[in-house]
Amino acid sequence: MTGLKINHVSYSYGSRKALDDVTFSVVGGRFCALFGPNGAGKSTLFALLTRLLVTGEGHIRVAGFDIARDPRAALARIGVVFQQPTLDLDMTVRRNLRYFAGLHGLSGRSAALAIEAALEQLGMADRADEQVRALNGGHRRRMEIARALMHDPEILLLDEPTVGLDAASRQAITDHVHLLAERGLAVLWATHLVDEIRPADQVVVLHRGKVLSDGSAEHLAGAQGLAKAFLSMTAEGREVPA
Ligand code: ADP
Ligand code: MG
Repeated sequence: MTGLKINHVSYSYGSRKALDDVTFSVVGGRFCALFGPNGAGKSTLFALLTRLLVTGEGHIRVAGFDIARDPRAALARIGVVFQQPTLDLDMTVRRNLRYFAGLHGLSGRSAALAIEAALEQLGMADRADEQVRALNGGHRRRMEIARALMHDPEILLLDEPTVGLDAASRQAITDHVHLLAERGLAVLWATHLVDEIRPADQVVVLHRGKVLSDGSAEHLAGAQGLAKAFLSMTAEGREVPA
């Protein structure tokens, strides 16, 4: 399992540099929090990892495949949950999953099996024929996660997946994805919320397009705790409250 390798990647929107020489890796079995305030460049990096954007500066390898040279093979190993929900609310749960299975080239028996496994994992086998509109926000997000796993990727990308959810759903989804990492997935989870990060997690701090640090949350937190560590790194000269 080779996971995700990002090497000296930069990206500019016109003259505005959104990512500046970003380098880090996530291996299988690891939960990596990509931590950064708004505007840090998190979503820009996700767009590069999914080929929505392309850059000539730097290299990205997914499960050993160079995303520029071998995009199909690389993208086949990625599951993604974008910042904006992308479910069709008027379709049933099962139809949403079937549509997505089709996009990934699954059909017939392999599609049916993947859909049943996703429903099982969601605990939603009995709600498969309900419209997505009838589900609460937490269930919708879980569904997007299960859908992202249907083609059995090695790497799962989630861009601020808990935004807008209540505390219980947020906790459930954070727990669920940590468990997926323990089972072997390489997880990249963009967030600016400290309480989604566990001591053993890898944390990459991104600020104004630059990686400020990369290491375990426990190490980064030190004696002062994660929240203060982040604040002192990203506040830039502002007084850090005691
Ligand atoms: P994050 O997801 O961490 O909030 P983004 O990747 O969305 O950060 O944004 C990084 C920087 O790039 C910000 O300064 C943002 O204003 C800028 N940016 C993002 N998307 C665009 C775009 N389509 N055109 C111009 N600038 C953009
Ligand atoms: Mg974003």
